[in-house]
Amino acid sequence: MSMPSRFFTSLILLSIALATAFFTGNHFMSLYEREPVVKGPGVTRVGKLSDYFPKIKNTVADTNVYFLEGSEPGATVVVFGGIHSIETAGMMSAVLLVENAVVKTGRLIVVPHSNESAFTHNAPSEGYPSRFTVKTSWGSRRFRYGDRLTNPVHQWPDPEIYVHYPSGDLQADFEVRNLDRAFPGRPDGGYTERVAYALTELVRKENAAMTLDLHEARPMNPIVNCIIANERAAEIAAMAVMDLGMQGIKMRLEPSPKKLRGMTHRELGDHTQTLAMLMETPSPAMDKLHGRADESLILTGKDEFFRSADHRRLLYAAYGQNGYPLEERVGRHLASVTVLIQLLAEVHSDQKVEVENIPEYKALQENGIGSFLRMPQKD
Ligand SMILES: [Zn+2]
Repeated sequence: MSMPSRFFTSLILLSIALATAFFTGNHFMSLYEREPVVKGPGVTRVGKLSDYFPKIKNTVADTNVYFLEGSEPGATVVVFGGIHSIETAGMMSAVLLVENAVVKTGRLIVVPHSNESAFTHNAPSEGYPSRFTVKTSWGSRRFRYGDRLTNPVHQWPDPEIYVHYPSGDLQADFEVRNLDRAFPGRPDGGYTERVAYALTELVRKENAAMTLDLHEARPMNPIVNCIIANERAAEIAAMAVMDLGMQGIKMRLEPSPKKLRGMTHRELGDHTQTLAMLMETPSPAMDKLHGRADESLILTGKDEFFRSADHRRLLYAAYGQNGYPLEERVGRHLASVTVLIQLLAEVHSDQKVEVENIPEYKALQENGIGSFLRMPQKD
């Protein structure tokens, strides 16, 4: 190759590399743009997570905290979505609460994107979409998919072994970036521990009678379609499982393991006054068995490999005729939230919370999630 042609080849390759870096860099930076959550008729104010731990102010961790306050005094229920960003039904259920629920008695405090950092990246080599679209009668809404763990840009490197604070429990290296292994957190810890600390402070300072943490799990994981309850919340969780069963919504009761540390149902129950529970619905996109991981898999939960796994009885959540549509998963979460809020006053008569307009299980299946999403107003 002559000198000039080598020069031009280098120039072309350099231009391609720069263009690729520009477009992918732009795409990654766009994930810092937070999707709107519309203040529904029940929202009385919007706070920030840094109100409970000022050290995270002006950092990516500082997420919105939505207050839905009733005219009658009562108890407080806290709902977390997005502790694991890819567990879409958890985040979406929290968004639907903010946009629809109206509180008559007591307070509902909702955090839809608990780990904001996790929404700013994707798991490498998995081929996941970075966003998905929900259609509505007036158009559509887009939401970020994210990754289960904190973005390494905000916390790096992972240690050889993760030592949970304060128990000293030893866990795998990557769990150091798992928000649901970081509770109760610590103010001088890494990013993930600081977020856990802020959320724990929220539960403590707002005197939450009950905290519900909404998640999803692999259908091949035995811990799916269940309520995981701290022992102090076992009674109310057992009653909820029976109530939901009578509505035709099967949820199992799982006791919170005492030796597995860092999860909300264990640590918030042990370190604060709250009755701590965590709910799991099935999401095939999270399981290794799935085929193409696109937007449709997140929304419909339909996948031929799961159909055949169901025939072979390898799943812990029935696949049924329709797979695991997001409507069903969100309906299941919101039905559980509704029943648990109703039961709170029955179990503890001085802790009344009354909430109306939570989207119902049947209405979600019939009308779709889009019918409960409001149109964001342009600033
Ligand atoms: Zn989870």
